[in-house]
Amino acid sequence: TVTLDLEFFRRFVERATRAVTERAAYLTDLDAAIGDADHGANLKRGFGSAAQAGVTDGATAPGPLLTAVGVHLTNTVGGASGPLYGTVLRRMGKVLGDDAVVTPERLGEALAAAVASVRRLGDAAPGDKTMVDALQPAADAYAAALAAGGTAADALRAAAEAARAGAEATVPLQARRGRASYLGERSIGHKDPGAASSALLVTALHEAGDP
Ligand code: ADP
Ligand code: MG
Ligand code: MG
Repeated sequence: TVTLDLEFFRRFVERATRAVTERAAYLTDLDAAIGDADHGANLKRGFGSAAQAGVTDGATAPGPLLTAVGVHLTNTVGGASGPLYGTVLRRMGKVLGDDAVVTPERLGEALAAAVASVRRLGDAAPGDKTMVDALQPAADAYAAALAAGGTAADALRAAAEAARAGAEATVPLQARRGRASYLGERSIGHKDPGAASSALLVTALHEAGDP
């Protein structure tokens, strides 16, 4: 069984950092097709410099840990994704508060609130071919799994699967937000880079509970 404590969220940040670092070229290639070929580099630099600067070293609870990484991403990652992912993590941190151990229900609330704030900040809805297309299904699947009587581990697995499926499902969509929207119909047929990185991040959250 998964305990959603400080160590769990430290493992999440470590795995997220490793994932965006290892898949930086892949994410940048996706962005080369429909953007400006910097998405992987942006996230690698943001998460990598957070680790290097030790921004989570002083964190004593999950909420402040996520907030610290979020503030760092907002401040250091150029481009659309920095402030958007910064908002995801800061919003989650705020909802988690100072609790030492997060309940599965509270994590679900944090995920839902985080997606809502990205949608607001980016003025993006599902189907616009953005990170929202991975994050919204992940938050929804997490909540559905818990409501069906699942454990936190079940809900995290469901969220990760939904995020990956949501990212795949961006391929046939036409982008309506962000740089890719400038391409119009030419954005069709490519996976959205931010949806792909969101799938990596939600997968990292799942793996943090399944080390
Ligand atoms: P930039 O486009 O500024 O170079 P990145 O390449 O790092 O930034 O990130 C691009 C990703 O950000 C897109 O693939 C998309 O998922 C996400 N994105 C861009 N604009 C928005 C928006 N308005 N709302 C939600 N997500 C967005
Ligand atoms: Mg880009
Ligand atoms: Mg850019």
